[in-house]
Amino acid sequence: MKTISDNLQEIKSDIPDNITLVAVSKTRSDEEIMQIYQAGHRVFGENKVQELIAKQKSLPKDIEWHMIGHLQSNKVKYIAGFIDLIHSVDSFNLLKIINKEAKKNNRLINCLLQIHIASEHTKFGFSIKDVEEILSSDEFALLQNVKITGLMGMATFTTDNEIIRKEFRYLRSCFKLLKESYFSDDSEFKELSMGMTNDYNIAIEEGSTIVRIGTLIFGERNYK
Ligand SMILES: *Cc1c(COP(=O)(O)O)cnc(C)c1O
Repeated sequence: MKTISDNLQEIKSDIPDNITLVAVSKTRSDEEIMQIYQAGHRVFGENKVQELIAKQKSLPKDIEWHMIGHLQSNKVKYIAGFIDLIHSVDSFNLLKIINKEAKKNNRLINCLLQIHIASEHTKFGFSIKDVEEILSSDEFALLQNVKITGLMGMATFTTDNEIIRKEFRYLRSCFKLLKESYFSDDSEFKELSMGMTNDYNIAIEEGSTIVRIGTLIFGERNYK
């Protein structure tokens, strides 16, 4: 039978070296996570604060933790001391709170702005217009302890690849527009977090720099 680290190796051989693979470890045990940690993997993504802090406590300290799920502003304080990248910034208020908590911890926290690209109403995220308003505001210019390193998006949950491709292409066009208008060419604004188990191939074709993959590495999730 194929092991978790076999799955990891297979995916890694399938994606270009310059793409960051976030192993999405939500609902997985420390033992499962350690199987690919021991194979050398260090970047893991979680979507719930409680689960994230428990794992950060019990697992090796050189793991790079990414927050990929909706983040409530009252919970930022629990992760501000260690989080490496927050993919899911979906309100200006949240960004300001992250800045405040980062400052308390004497840190600079890397953030992605989540753009709403799917047709479903349930998914969180900004419109491109929201983001332009934030980036051009005086208030944003004052935030010293957060760094916007790119965008994140989730495509519609569908088997229609053309819909998925269109949404990723749109996200890429948002990224280009924002980079040209608000960031210099050599700035840290360089990441496009898009692509999961079912759509990472399309995402990579459309310019993804970070893929977030759970099921294909660890198997189907059993939600308790
Ligand atoms: C769960 C999750 C993933 C991974 O999904 P898989 O289909 O298991 O690869 C990626 N991104 C986010 C935001 C998630 O919540």
